[in-house]
Amino acid sequence: MTGDKSFSYAAHGPKQALEPWEFDLRPLGPEDIEMKLAYCGICHSDIHTIDGDWGSQNWPIVPGHELIGYVTKVGDKVTKFKVGERVGVGAQGASCLKCSECKSHQENYCLEGFLGTYGAKLSDGYVTKGGYAHFQRVHNNFAVKIPEGISSPEAAPLLCAGITTYAPLKYAGCGKGKKVGIIGIGGLGHLGVKLANAMGAHVVALSSSDSKRDESSKLGAHEYLNHTNPEELKKHHKSFDILLCTVSAPLDLTKFLKLIKPHGHFCNVGLPEEDMKLPPFAFQHHISISGTLVGSPSEIEEMLELCAKHHIAAQIEIDQLENVNAALDRVRKNLPRYRIVLAIDEELDRQHRGGQKQ
Ligand code: NAP
Ligand code: ZN
Repeated sequence: MTGDKSFSYAAHGPKQALEPWEFDLRPLGPEDIEMKLAYCGICHSDIHTIDGDWGSQNWPIVPGHELIGYVTKVGDKVTKFKVGERVGVGAQGASCLKCSECKSHQENYCLEGFLGTYGAKLSDGYVTKGGYAHFQRVHNNFAVKIPEGISSPEAAPLLCAGITTYAPLKYAGCGKGKKVGIIGIGGLGHLGVKLANAMGAHVVALSSSDSKRDESSKLGAHEYLNHTNPEELKKHHKSFDILLCTVSAPLDLTKFLKLIKPHGHFCNVGLPEEDMKLPPFAFQHHISISGTLVGSPSEIEEMLELCAKHHIAAQIEIDQLENVNAALDRVRKNLPRYRIVLAIDEELDRQHRGGQKQ
């Protein structure tokens, strides 16, 4: 690999299996870094994109927005990173960097639009390519350093799943004395449980079966609620300060809104293909409904610091990049515990990390 081309796995159309594909990296701009990837997590957003749940895409798509790797090149104006440093990139690959949101460190809400790490057409026409690949070139504003104490594969999911649950919990006032429920204990949800626990809340894991009940306390849940069981739901009637929904499928929200205290918060981050039912009478007790989109680079850094302090890392299954199609099928079937991370170059990580926790 020269560094100007990258090997990847790409989807060439909706619902198609990913295939090996070599693509041209975009020219390294003065503010860009190039990284060689060691690992990349599989987010359910990758599945929605590949399966056409979110409509037409700029095919071919190279998915992956939980990238961990090492800097191989830096543009002339980059001062934040050096060659050889461990870096991560999440779901955002670019923004205008000029609007009021970008200027106030909320790049994820850029007024010109959110440009993803993959599938986004940049102003020069280049379509961004994600982390199911060997190399990435990205503006250095959207890369972050990874704290030493977290292993590379366990850090990868923090870049999307971690920040996507941390940001709404923080905005809703998650903390000591609050009862917080996380709906859907998948890649996002299991980190939501860990983070809400670290923020000091009383945490309830809300799941669609009993299959995750035994493990939930190890993740940091104080209680478990199988939300398909009406008797269990009754016990938690009007008791939550915050509910965070991370479910990837459409849901009837009625039963969940009944669980929230007056003045409480319902935050949604799940992005299923169909609309969700939202009955007006269910949120008349001054319940705030909000949604968030990942988090900004500075919020990602803040979340990583919290994770380092509380020894929080994702619970993962590692699979090889070549097995990506089977791994995607496991996610479609809700089988992973709790995030699959694709190994792209484990030897690179070993060389850089030496004796440290891999
Ligand atoms: P995931 O690992 O597949 O987890 C989703 C969880 O949803 C499952 O583990 C399952 O939890 C629950 N679930 C799935 N199907 C269900 C059904 N039919 N009924 C009830 N519950 C069901 O997915 P993820 O990677 O965490 O992503 C979750 C969602 O967040 C996706 O829609 C993704 O696109 C979205 N997302 C949004 C943002 C954002 O910025 N807003 C960022 C990243 C991802 P239980 O087994 O516990 O029920
Ligand atoms: Zn994601």
